[in-house]
Amino acid sequence: MKNKMQLQFSALSRNESFARVAVAAFVAQLDPTLDELTEIKTVVSEAVTNAIIHGYEENPDGMVYVSAAICDDGTVEITVRDEGKGIADIEEARQPLFTTRPELERSGMGFTIMENFMDDVEIQSQPESGTIIRLKKHLALKNALCN
Ligand code: ATP
Ligand code: MG
Repeated sequence: MKNKMQLQFSALSRNESFARVAVAAFVAQLDPTLDELTEIKTVVSEAVTNAIIHGYEENPDGMVYVSAAICDDGTVEITVRDEGKGIADIEEARQPLFTTRPELERSGMGFTIMENFMDDVEIQSQPESGTIIRLKKHLALKNALCN
């Protein structure tokens, strides 16, 4: 069975922990290991922070959309979407240490962390229309099938 949830919230940095904890609480139903849960929280934090800081440049009129789906077979799919300024060059943005905001002391490691912790990271983006990050991970579970 596929079990889904959705959240939407204002592009405020203080909402990052809300999103991270909400997704972790939802995924906890699959009984993940502590490491798996930490990895999921970290990638949600990275993607949501990117939407807030880069997508909307912290303009709280912007909304961030997070959805998650879990399957009994241990599959976790998380989507983080914004309708912000978009990414001009996705390949460049994925490179370790690439950042457009060095003045904010960003280290350019967000996408690299997402790729390390998840099995699949898909980035879809259009300048001036927004960004969608699709993250997938398969948890090491025991049994069951997903329909
Ligand atoms: P760090 O995540 O280490 O603090 P960073 O956010 O700059 O630094 P990444 O998360 O890897 O590094 O993102 C790389 C670059 O991709 C960003 O500097 C930004 O230019 C662009 N980017 C990422 N997400 C978005 C987004 N949602 N909207 C617009 N641009 C984005
Ligand atoms: Mg980042």
